[in-house]
Amino acid sequence: MTTDRYDVAVVGAGIVGAAIARLLGGTSLSVALLEARDDVGDGTSKANTAILHTGFDATPGTLEARLVARGYALLGDYAAATGIPVERTGALLVAWTDEQLRTLPALRAKAERNGYTACELVDAAAVYDAVPALGPGALGGLTVPGESITCTWTTNLALATDAVNRGVTLLRGHRVTAADAGPDATRLDTTGGAVTARWVINAAGLHADALDRLFGYERFTVTPRRGELYVFDKLARPLVPCIVLPVPSKAGKGVLVSPTIYGNVMLGPTAEDLPDRTATGTSARGLAYLLERGRELMPRLLDEEVTATYAGLRAGIGRDDYLVDVDVDAGRRYVLVGGIRSTGLTAGMAIAEHVAGLLDGALDLTPRPDLPDPPRMPNLGEAGVRPFRDPAAIDADPEYGHIVCFCERVTRGEIRDAYRSPVPPADLDGLRRRTRAMNGRCQGFYCGAEVGELLRTRGGAR
Ligand SMILES: Cc1cc2nc3c(=O)[nH]c(=O)nc-3n(C[C@H](O)[C@H](O)[C@H](O)COP(=O)(O)OP(=O)(O)OC[C@H]3O[C@@H](n4cnc5c(N)ncnc54)[C@H](O)[C@@H]3O)c2cc1C
Repeated sequence: MTTDRYDVAVVGAGIVGAAIARLLGGTSLSVALLEARDDVGDGTSKANTAILHTGFDATPGTLEARLVARGYALLGDYAAATGIPVERTGALLVAWTDEQLRTLPALRAKAERNGYTACELVDAAAVYDAVPALGPGALGGLTVPGESITCTWTTNLALATDAVNRGVTLLRGHRVTAADAGPDATRLDTTGGAVTARWVINAAGLHADALDRLFGYERFTVTPRRGELYVFDKLARPLVPCIVLPVPSKAGKGVLVSPTIYGNVMLGPTAEDLPDRTATGTSARGLAYLLERGRELMPRLLDEEVTATYAGLRAGIGRDDYLVDVDVDAGRRYVLVGGIRSTGLTAGMAIAEHVAGLLDGALDLTPRPDLPDPPRMPNLGEAGVRPFRDPAAIDADPEYGHIVCFCERVTRGEIRDAYRSPVPPADLDGLRRRTRAMNGRCQGFYCGAEVGELLRTRGGAR
């Protein structure tokens, strides 16, 4: 039953908030997950490079380094249980200058300090053996066999669905606008009505600083760091058998070329600090820069068709680590989970575990014995079996044989299922994140009308 009073209110239904709500939802606590937007996973968590990081290049000794490594294991296991697609492609870090080549042994040593011991130095011949389409001039490389590609959309949705199945109340369209911390509970005013909770957990991503100020703090400011990306057509995929990483520099991780879980190739991201937290559009300058880098990295890639471009905003807070803090002494019962910049997809489940560890003692976190099984998510991965090529599924339900989106081979059955799921889409973009509909090379030119009709009828009446 919905109530406006909870033991815990988690603010923000990105990967981090959904993972925290899911974990706490497995106890006897009453938990609400509040999201400003109309859907879960509609912030930074929808627009990243979707790499499941080993954490080989994290700064050793940081909270981020520890939680990325732990998150890599947790999400890997969770993906196997829920059907979140993961491809263990591995990565190859390529040195293009003598200086970069000299850096590789130090990077391997850093990986080892992070507990990752599988990196190997390879010569130029091995680099071209692994990725023959690379541009000329590679001098050597470092392999990172564990780096993998995944689906950020399914990850966020699986965590949110699991949370709801465990009894968490998901409140979409609830942007927190004010907080009034009383002796027993905090009253949150939201755009969807007031919500009261004993504990509040701030997982508001790009807006975590604004929420933090509502609790009386003035300790950090989020500076969005935009990352722009190109997505190339599926015909380009054979050019890129693994993730091709640049040698990181002070400016960041740099521009990579990677296969995507949907069978495409991506080039990016850029890294540009901006004042505007809504600047998720791409820019002519950013795209021109990417083409310049792409021409050096893999000239043949630029002969391929571009399917789409997109951008995401990392929540930078001017420090090289996550900022996770529990405030119980001032009587506020408030947890900040801030600065989850460029690794939160991987680390999300470990961040949840870390937060639970900090709250243990203050809250009874004993797992309930009657937990439902994790949800089985629809497979969006190109390497797995999707309904359109599953004769048994089509025999059992002909709607899986009726393709609506021909570029991505999405069927009526999958769209219907999305609407019948515990966390149905709120709009076309949400449907795309659940099914891949209109995510292909025509970008909806051919299927837009039928998908639009299914959107209007919430999955079709027949
Ligand atoms: C270009 C780019 C590439 C990246 N690549 C990778 C990668 O390859 N691998 C990896 O592991 N990570 C990667 N990341 C990082 C990863 O995407 C983020 O760390 C992660 O998505 C952060 O999740 P979050 O839940 O903290 O934030 P978000 O997903 O932004 O969620 C925060 C939510 O809070 C909501 N909210 C905000 N204010 C309020 C309020 N007042 N009331 C209610 N709700 C509110 C927002 O609407 C939003 O939905 C990348 C990021 C970018 C931008």
